[in-house]
Amino acid sequence: MTQKWDIVIVGGGLAGYVAANYLTETSLSVLLIEKGKNIGGRARTNKVNQQYLNIGPHALSKKGKAMTILKDLGISLSGKSPKLDGILIEDNIEYAAPLSPLELFRTSLLNRKERMEWIAVLFKVMRTDTENLAAQTFQQWVMQVGDSKRVQSLLYILGRLATYCHAPEMASAKVVVSNIRNAMGGVLYLDGGWQTIIDQLHNKAISLGVQVQSHTLVKQIDPAQQEDQFKLILSNDEEIHAKYVICTTGPHELHKMVNENYQNSFFTQIKAVRGATLDLALSQLPNPSRLFAMGITDPLYYSVHSNYARLSDDTKSSVLHVFKYHHPDDHIDSTSIKNELEQFLDRLQPGWQQYVITRRFLPNITVNQRLPQLGDEHKLQRSKTEIPGLYIAGDWASSDSILADGAASSGKQAAEEIILNEKEENSANYERRLPTF
Ligand SMILES: Cc1cc2nc3c(=O)[nH]c(=O)nc-3n(C[C@H](O)[C@H](O)[C@H](O)COP(=O)(O)OP(=O)(O)OC[C@H]3O[C@@H](n4cnc5c(N)ncnc54)[C@H](O)[C@@H]3O)c2cc1C
Repeated sequence: MTQKWDIVIVGGGLAGYVAANYLTETSLSVLLIEKGKNIGGRARTNKVNQQYLNIGPHALSKKGKAMTILKDLGISLSGKSPKLDGILIEDNIEYAAPLSPLELFRTSLLNRKERMEWIAVLFKVMRTDTENLAAQTFQQWVMQVGDSKRVQSLLYILGRLATYCHAPEMASAKVVVSNIRNAMGGVLYLDGGWQTIIDQLHNKAISLGVQVQSHTLVKQIDPAQQEDQFKLILSNDEEIHAKYVICTTGPHELHKMVNENYQNSFFTQIKAVRGATLDLALSQLPNPSRLFAMGITDPLYYSVHSNYARLSDDTKSSVLHVFKYHHPDDHIDSTSIKNELEQFLDRLQPGWQQYVITRRFLPNITVNQRLPQLGDEHKLQRSKTEIPGLYIAGDWASSDSILADGAASSGKQAAEEIILNEKEENSANYERRLPTF
């Protein structure tokens, strides 16, 4: 018997689970299919030797859309906000990072004039109406608001920190500046890692009737041919039918699944935001006062997440992430990137190798499926696609947000658009059945 569902959600990451949770408000049958053995996508946390490792450094913006949506869905989040009073490094010289009020006045990175300029720019970030930045790249905006090279490079650092985008000449100023502003409102490192979000979303969805099938890849999505039903072909060659499909995979995977049925050139041109991550648990920190650092010109990041979040079953060990932001044109040489990250860590935590409990290096991971570029928002106004019944969600599919905010808000939007479509169809059917006099 071919299984029939009202809605099939492809992908069990944040976007898929947020959509599933909003759809439990209806009586529609929902199946979520995840290709991985484990659920969660890039919001997964791996537990290794009693240590909880997120896939790279994960910080949830307190002012972002994901936080609002997760609270709306009754997800409880526990964790703490990191302090940003670490160091910035250039040419082997360390400076106090002027990212907190205290360090702003202590740092030798800025002279008096640059310090005043930096304060003025930070106020501008908080006050600018980001809607007015839709036609500018982040680089154009930085050149406009920052006079000195120092202040410009600080803005690029904040841009990388808040968005992971390391292509200011391509990235939309509107998206980067609004993310910087959200980040300035504080972020949370989560106890137990981001898996705690996914597990709560999963349990709620299951308890309200959503079916989840993991370890199953959707190979093909054939648009509705008869009875308004999609045909989905799975990795075990099983066929299932659905009235609606919400696809939360990346744009290129979506394109492959619907292949010649859907020639959306915008989707095929989307570039991802990528990086390299070295995720580590150490039995102790050689230098316990070193908790946060970034490169000034080198696009590098380091932060000890366990200083703020409970990320191990023991109380002594430390979980930290060293990260390199990639430019879309970068040539990725795994060995040299690994060396670069290890050398950055050598200078911050000399001798760290002898304390390794567990480590993982991912040389080229997708952080966000879309580098937000000028004009993207016009192409992503709605979750509905040109194929009737096919909806998109995921961190690339939101018109004005990226990362967890983009994933959660697009998941919610796709669910809401389907619910609205159902209501419109039902009322049209009802009117059709009314007797005419
Ligand atoms: C290193 C790193 C650091 C990050 N830091 C932050 C941060 O600090 N703050 C923040 O907000 N965000 C951060 N993010 C981004 C955040 O993790 C993602 O934006 C979010 O988890 C994406 O959710 P998603 O549901 O859109 O996609 P995914 O999590 O990728 O989910 C899509 C799911 O679809 C599944 N899938 C794909 N194809 C198929 C198929 N054919 N059939 C079935 N299943 C399929 C995949 O296995 C996956 O589980 C970071 C990401 C990384 C990698």
